[in-house]
Amino acid sequence: MSNGQLLIIGGNAAGMSAASQARRANPDIDITVVEQSPYISTAHCGLPYYISGEIKDINSLTARTKEYFEDKRNVKVLTMTKALRIVSSSKSVETLDLRSGTKAALSYSRLIIAAGGDVVQPYSGKYIFSLRNTQDGLSLKKFIDSSHPMNAAVIGGGMIGLEMASSFRKLGMKVTVFEGSPAILPGFDTEISAPVERYLAGHDIKIIKSKASASDSASGGVDVSAGGRSHHYDMALIALGTKAAAQLAGAAGCELGAAGGVRTNLKMQTSIPSIYAAGDCIEVKNLISGKNVYIPLGTTANKTGRVAGINAAGGDAVFHGIIASAAGNILNMTVARTGLSEEEAGDGFGEIASVVSESASRADYYPGGSKITSKLIFSKTSGQLLGAQMMGKEGVAKRIDILAVCIQQKMKLRDIAGLDLTYAPPEAPVWDPVLKAVNTALLKLRK
Ligand SMILES: Cc1cc2nc3c(=O)[nH]c(=O)nc-3n(C[C@H](O)[C@H](O)[C@H](O)COP(=O)(O)OP(=O)(O)OC[C@H]3O[C@@H](n4cnc5c(N)ncnc54)[C@H](O)[C@@H]3O)c2cc1C
Repeated sequence: MSNGQLLIIGGNAAGMSAASQARRANPDIDITVVEQSPYISTAHCGLPYYISGEIKDINSLTARTKEYFEDKRNVKVLTMTKALRIVSSSKSVETLDLRSGTKAALSYSRLIIAAGGDVVQPYSGKYIFSLRNTQDGLSLKKFIDSSHPMNAAVIGGGMIGLEMASSFRKLGMKVTVFEGSPAILPGFDTEISAPVERYLAGHDIKIIKSKASASDSASGGVDVSAGGRSHHYDMALIALGTKAAAQLAGAAGCELGAAGGVRTNLKMQTSIPSIYAAGDCIEVKNLISGKNVYIPLGTTANKTGRVAGINAAGGDAVFHGIIASAAGNILNMTVARTGLSEEEAGDGFGEIASVVSESASRADYYPGGSKITSKLIFSKTSGQLLGAQMMGKEGVAKRIDILAVCIQQKMKLRDIAGLDLTYAPPEAPVWDPVLKAVNTALLKLRK
């Protein structure tokens, strides 16, 4: 494609990665991004730390500005412009300028849909917030700075809910997390989620295991109903997850998958060949289970955006899938996982076993270390490592990354045990927690 018009819907992680890579792959095409908000290229992952005050300036979350894209990358960026409808038969997108109310039709030769995800937000009100984007972050911060809430309810005990509970606690608020399922942190097994729950309780974050609903209270603040009781808070944050913003793609005739996202091939092409999709609006293949999953993460949005941009501009790149590696920081405790949980490992790997081990983050004799708890999930039949989860105050995420490489490469425990990892007293013990966990698993494998 030497000349052509590449149109991108959505100007955040996936959309702007796509724009950058498309420009690199092809200096000649016209590239236009339409973004409904005033913001582009913002690291939403930093928002909990902006709310807690650890990040002072929300602008520091913006990786690249509109001016940068226009001046340095020759990418036209239309902010406050909403894509209303894709007409694939005429290769055009109907847009609405949200400032002037003017409608337009933008033609494309290739289109990338990077519309992201929508928060699940069943409750709304003056004192009820969600956190998905810069606008949400600004509104929440403004409320906290002007109203000084003393306590908050967080509805949803997943990673974002707990990161936000942590942010509120750091601000000195009393926090209660409502979780509708038996355990917090979906995707983690109880050997990790239960100690995290105890850690939260030890830091004055109350967990109530009950489905909850919220509404503004007549006297100000929020009433949260759970388990037949009503609780009153100064504010509530709803953190019930994200669903793919797949409506535009679906209405245009792009195939959607069972996990709710737009389906693509390895080149990020949808079932309509001139339309690509990337980021939180798509579903991707879990490389270990072989199943399509919806796990919206910034890591995947950047990678799939990159691949969509290269291919839509006439280049050649592929994205094979994910193994669901994720980490979060809750009151300075890191919780991380990769691969399959014990429940997810149910089918197709023979007999499944798991081990939990504890080790120190540094050499025992070196001051300042802390405990790391690890869980490994493996096939007793083949010895293949299938999943890993860890919690601890230092060195957790990068150790999970080592195990992520092993899992993605479908390595067996006995081969992982032979890895030549580093040892220096302030950094790691002579038997790194990764090797200690694997050796514990090997003992069980041999039984
Ligand atoms: C609080 C929080 C913490 C997070 N922490 C992490 C983390 O630690 N690690 C991690 O990997 N991920 C994290 N994530 C997830 C990560 O932020 C997302 O996966 C990532 O932003 C997805 O990028 P995206 O471009 O696909 O979608 P989005 O960021 O949702 O961007 C989509 C864009 O499309 C625009 N858009 C949608 N529809 C239209 C339309 N019709 N017309 C025009 N524009 C449209 C939207 O306004 C939006 O700007 C976090 C998310 C949140 C909210």
